[in-house]
Amino acid sequence: MTSAPQTPLWNPDMDTMPWPMLQERLVRDFVVMLDRLRENEEWRGRLRGVAQVRAIEDLVAVPFTTKEDLRSTQSTIDPERPLGPYQLAPTDQLRQITSSSGTTGTPVFFGLTGPDLRRWRSAIGNAYRTAGVGPGSIVAHTTGMAIVAGGLPYADGIRAAGGALAWVGGQTLPRMVTALERTRANVLVSTASFAAHFAERCAEILERPTSDLAVRTIIAGGEPGAGVPHIRNAIMDGWSATRVSEMMGIGDVLPALWAECHVGQGMHFTAAPDVLVELIDPETLGHVPWEQGVTGEAVYTTLSREASAVVRFRSRDQLLVTATECACGRTSPTVRCVGRTDDMLIFESTKVYPTSIRDVVLEVATQHLTGLMRVRKTSLDQVRFDEPIPLEVELRDDAHPDAAASALKAAEEQVRRRLRVHVSVEPFPRGVLPVSDYKNALTYAIGD
Ligand SMILES: [Zn+2]
Repeated sequence: MTSAPQTPLWNPDMDTMPWPMLQERLVRDFVVMLDRLRENEEWRGRLRGVAQVRAIEDLVAVPFTTKEDLRSTQSTIDPERPLGPYQLAPTDQLRQITSSSGTTGTPVFFGLTGPDLRRWRSAIGNAYRTAGVGPGSIVAHTTGMAIVAGGLPYADGIRAAGGALAWVGGQTLPRMVTALERTRANVLVSTASFAAHFAERCAEILERPTSDLAVRTIIAGGEPGAGVPHIRNAIMDGWSATRVSEMMGIGDVLPALWAECHVGQGMHFTAAPDVLVELIDPETLGHVPWEQGVTGEAVYTTLSREASAVVRFRSRDQLLVTATECACGRTSPTVRCVGRTDDMLIFESTKVYPTSIRDVVLEVATQHLTGLMRVRKTSLDQVRFDEPIPLEVELRDDAHPDAAASALKAAEEQVRRRLRVHVSVEPFPRGVLPVSDYKNALTYAIGD
């Protein structure tokens, strides 16, 4: 909970419609969209055999779109359709091309028509409004890349929400710090890891505490992390912030799909009516009900995209439903991203996410650890462990060896009790474990 001020609702009808009713409405839009997609030859082939969709249950018969599907269709370049055979709108109607970040492989490119741009601006505006941006916000945007989902589309959303955009990214850190100081930016938009790192560097460059700056709200997106208590507290302390709002989106779908309100219990779905979200069990592929405490993989369908659409896009993001009611009045469930479906590990027969292990270990032994840790696998695709899962952790410089060893033993015990899996924690001094790309940060394979 924070005492941060509440910003007014963006779209009161949609934001406060009971969730089951909203889902039903979006399923009706889904049916309309399927008819539109069938005008495209490639989609017609893909959707052949799909029976009539009347209710959300019927969606399970509709095939998924995966990242690989999108990537493989762009492997050859068609001059008529630069975005591949799934490009729906003629090229002369395109107004913008964006790309996925490419952190998990070759980037995929998407198109936006004029109406697509307006819808993105509004939906991303809702996310920023939910996360605390409104008139009077001076928003420092720290990415340096305009083409990715977190670049120009975020810049548009920040302005749509009523904020004043100060695009400080793409220059050296000292220049960014000067820009923060001179613009009196009060909101910082960045990834969770950059927010933490930047606070430290800011204080060094300024030779004064960051509390001298005006930044009080941090909006963290682009990677999970800002929902984890110790990371959130580190960001809060680093900036003397009063609010950390997590935001999550996917370039392939919509760059901002979920955003956290002032209550701070998780992220609300902010992409209606442009996107339909389903929660599935990644093993059975059946629906998981939106109930507090459940986890499932988010699957998204774009309902209004004219240039590039996705149907039942498998995000691989595992969401935990933190609540189904919120004091802010928004009626969508609130969620946290707890891991990637691809990251799931199985110890004997129990499933576990590396993020869950990290959270327990940090809770128990936080005063001895820097927070950097990773699960060691024998190969990149290893999922099953019959022996305790090896977990390498980095010790703080001031950690006392005996005290740290007993805290790590206690952490192993808590992981066993709470998650029902065995881990073997191996401490390393600072500087030995490499800092890797965030999407693979919690697991690595020997020889990588
Ligand atoms: Zn709320």
